[in-house]
Amino acid sequence: MSSISPKSFEATQFKPTPNNLEAFFMPFTSNRHFKANPRLFVKAEGMHFTNIDGKQVLDATAGLWCVNAGHGRREISEAVSHQIQELDYSPPFQMGHPAAFELASRVAALAPTGLDHVFFTNSGSESVDTALKIALAYQRAKGQGTRTRLIGRERGYHGVGFGGISVGGMVNNRKWFGTALGGIDHLPHTYNAKEMAYSKGQPAWGAHLADDLERLVALHDASSIAAVIVEPVAGSTGVLIPPKGYLEKLREICTKHGILLIFDEVICGFGRLGTNFGADYFGVTPDLITCAKGLTNGAIPMGGVIVSKQIYDTFMETSAENAIELFHGYTYSAHPVACAAGLAVLDIYKNEGLFDRVKEITPYWENAIHSLKGTRHVIDLRNIGLIGAIELESRPGKPGARAMDAFLKAYEKGMLIRVTGDIIAMSPPFIVEKSHVDQAVSILADVLKSID
Ligand code: PMP
Repeated sequence: MSSISPKSFEATQFKPTPNNLEAFFMPFTSNRHFKANPRLFVKAEGMHFTNIDGKQVLDATAGLWCVNAGHGRREISEAVSHQIQELDYSPPFQMGHPAAFELASRVAALAPTGLDHVFFTNSGSESVDTALKIALAYQRAKGQGTRTRLIGRERGYHGVGFGGISVGGMVNNRKWFGTALGGIDHLPHTYNAKEMAYSKGQPAWGAHLADDLERLVALHDASSIAAVIVEPVAGSTGVLIPPKGYLEKLREICTKHGILLIFDEVICGFGRLGTNFGADYFGVTPDLITCAKGLTNGAIPMGGVIVSKQIYDTFMETSAENAIELFHGYTYSAHPVACAAGLAVLDIYKNEGLFDRVKEITPYWENAIHSLKGTRHVIDLRNIGLIGAIELESRPGKPGARAMDAFLKAYEKGMLIRVTGDIIAMSPPFIVEKSHVDQAVSILADVLKSID
């Protein structure tokens, strides 16, 4: 190719009208509300977005828990454009390309000991459904085909595939879509306002909640259960931090009964808690880890499932010679462009010591979040790693309305936050400076004082 062709579209020239906003059926958004009052980003750099009016917006959520290294990283755009020019696509069917093998090796090297094979997907939702399918197929390959039951958790979020919404416990994600998958059960969630309010890091109370898994084993029999899936820290349902000892107990019970343990690390993976994975932070090793988001810094869609040697070896050993061991994959599994982005991102994390940076700033972050105690509407504050949650008292009869008002007000004041129900979640990029933290907390305090 001789020269780069002219841009076919210039975002800054776009003038939103009811007409040109109409065709896009927006995800996770009130289309009617948004289209009457659109909020459009056209650029992003470092800690900030720029909106269509040219205003800077502080990114207090790393996009959606994904832009861990900050926005506009040249290393990623250069790697991606180079890759498109060299090899824009390679089919996943009976073919491979070097970047996929290199990225898998590097992800495996970051993963906890014993988890050393990586299956690539394009999103967190695909990673979850892939992990559930691997768990079921593994049990069958082991001659334990009766193990078909999957166990999730109330207030779990595992994406929007049918597997994910079935094991998930976010009511709005489930109730519109029929009965979901059968043969699923749920553990109780781990949040208890009375015992945990204003906890810093892991709450001391609640390890015993893991014992509920023994109840489900007694009810269904272990021989019917394939896997348990939990987020080490539940993010999308309002930042629920595992009580001390809870994940350890889950691990123990799963091992005792031959049940696979899956950690959904779409948020925790790649440094959000200051360690490679949440599993490292909590010192508990699952059998499978799902990841996405931070793997490519949000720049190109990509996810993955990291599995133990034992799981991988079982597929290799039990399938017929020359057979496809796992009949599963996507047209864009290990897409070369996503792999190039992933490799550039892992380099950035390492070269800039960004996970250590999370560790360093965590105490400052914790104090900043908890400085909001006593602010109007606030009924709980909690934090872990570079995640913070501000829980608001619901407006009577209108759950979620107060946090949504806070979201809109914060945006007006130049900050992007994430709201879920009446909980505000914050999870800035790891390049965040103390001054950004101060600014975020001060905007939030103003916002909370100004809303009903
Ligand atoms: N699992 C978890 C724990 C998540 O937080 C998310 C996204 N927030 C998903 C799965 C789904 O990821 P995606 O939106 O990329 O499908």
